[in-house]
Amino acid sequence: MNSFFIEFRDPLFGIIIFFLIIFFISFLSYWWGRFKRYEDHKKLSKFISKFHSVNDEEFEEITKNISQKSLLILAEAYLQSSEYKKSIQVYKLLIERCTVSSVRLEITFALAKTYFKAGFLERAKKLFLIILKESPRSPDVLKYLLLIYEQLKLYSKALEVIEPLEELKVEVTAQKSYIKCMLIINDQTLETAQKVKKLVDIYKKDKLHTHLIFEFLFLHDSSTAWQNLDLSKCEDIIDTLFMLDESKLNSEIISENGYLRELYSAKGYVELAEKSSVFEFDLLIHLKRSNIKSATLMFEYTCNECKESLAFSYGRCPYCHNIDSLKPQLYLTKDHFEKNLSFQ
Ligand SMILES: [Zn+2]
Repeated sequence: MNSFFIEFRDPLFGIIIFFLIIFFISFLSYWWGRFKRYEDHKKLSKFISKFHSVNDEEFEEITKNISQKSLLILAEAYLQSSEYKKSIQVYKLLIERCTVSSVRLEITFALAKTYFKAGFLERAKKLFLIILKESPRSPDVLKYLLLIYEQLKLYSKALEVIEPLEELKVEVTAQKSYIKCMLIINDQTLETAQKVKKLVDIYKKDKLHTHLIFEFLFLHDSSTAWQNLDLSKCEDIIDTLFMLDESKLNSEIISENGYLRELYSAKGYVELAEKSSVFEFDLLIHLKRSNIKSATLMFEYTCNECKESLAFSYGRCPYCHNIDSLKPQLYLTKDHFEKNLSFQ
């Protein structure tokens, strides 16, 4: 009996009990959290399902006695499930009923964001401008307005929005030079040579937007493109380099760079590499050396920030709106062009 009490007073026993209690409490709170989330989700689904089959008049009648907080949850839930029309309807109702101007402004912001997400850019723009009249020093609203002008291709207007953002000490270096690039590329009054020069100047200054700028340069002036290309950025424009016409190659630069030697050996333009550390290049080089030309590379673009994948490249990710976040991913595919030729 005595020995039991000695063991009971052993410090190791105390530590074990302490950790057991912590484990038990963590286990309970984890399951309680899961249970609460499940219950909340069930209640919200039940609440939302009440509104599914009602028309506009019935909807207004039903929501008369529902609190503002519940309606905000409802609007947000519709937004999350991409039911923009219903979300907009609820936000409009909330604005109508709201009597506190600061709260009404917040709901107007939520409505404007919903319009933006749903693609109603003009309506969203109108609301963001109304909000800015009442609250001009609002970086979040300015950021949305910038995106809208950009999507409407009103790049000069977008640049005007950059100014107040700079005054508010928001970091906009990349956005500013990106919009300048878009303004130059889309400027109908500029000659191609002028565009090339202006884009090179921007690139030399910021070393940003490599894909956007060099896609344009290689298309219109490959000689200038090769002169100004930072060879450490080749992977960022692998799609442009791989698709480049053979007549636009710079053999001197290619022969002096290991990555380019492998890339163009994989493409079949040169025979300057016998293998590559890039699996896809390596395979293509071996196939070409065996005179098998039925394989090539295809590209898709994955955002480093939100991880979405797209079939085309964009300077700004259409999902998370980050600049220069899309990176080309290569994969092997059948070369249909070669296949068609083989049938001739
Ligand atoms: Zn993204």
